[in-house]
Amino acid sequence: MLLHNSPLFKIYFGDAKDNLDPEQYLDLPSDKNIFSISAFVHLKNVMKLDRVVFLKQTHSNQGEVITSKRHAKGIRSFTIEGDYLITNVPCVGLGVMTADCLPIVLYDSFNQVVAAVHAGWRGSAKTVVLKALSRMEKEFGTKATNIRAFFGPSAKVCCYTVGDDMLEKLEDFEFIDRVVQQRGKENYFDLPVFNKLLLQSVGVKSDEIKMQYNLCTMCDKSLHSHRRDGKKAGRQMTVVSLQ
Ligand SMILES: [Zn+2]
Repeated sequence: MLLHNSPLFKIYFGDAKDNLDPEQYLDLPSDKNIFSISAFVHLKNVMKLDRVVFLKQTHSNQGEVITSKRHAKGIRSFTIEGDYLITNVPCVGLGVMTADCLPIVLYDSFNQVVAAVHAGWRGSAKTVVLKALSRMEKEFGTKATNIRAFFGPSAKVCCYTVGDDMLEKLEDFEFIDRVVQQRGKENYFDLPVFNKLLLQSVGVKSDEIKMQYNLCTMCDKSLHSHRRDGKKAGRQMTVVSLQ
């Protein structure tokens, strides 16, 4: 676990020690609190959260905005479909689950708004991070120039091979040559740099895009990787909350 601890917000980057198995939480009975699962108890204590919200991730570019504690309380995690969450409410954790996809946190320092985004290659090709950012702009007046972004662990260009189906979906992006590398017979995709270039293309400053938590899930055995471990892979969670 890595904790990014700022005076105004906290980010939790989980790892394999959280031992999160999708079967544990996706089928949680409706009368059971998410905080009855040990990994979430730990999260609650470390982050000092009142609530934590996760969506049922579908590799889309849709998401939800949470504007009150009451609203957060009414959402049963893992039931509403979407791939980003946004809030301006303190002590409400916004979470994404990943095991090679890229978790992105956006922080608007001017308006005190945060977002958690789930960006695999499918969501990234649908520019999910930019959809989240424009929703922040619409709802709270966020400007790209006030954004600080944090990238969590994901599959990286050292390991992330991609097939022709995926290259077809990405070929219309003008910077495609900067994010696909051919080595031998394989093509490798740079998922974090792709998202970094998307953010920069709308005005997010390069030095406000923080990559220090972006470890490779496939190389690093302390992290869960779907590509490495297949169906039995666990998940790591990334959670952000305002203080
Ligand atoms: Zn790697």
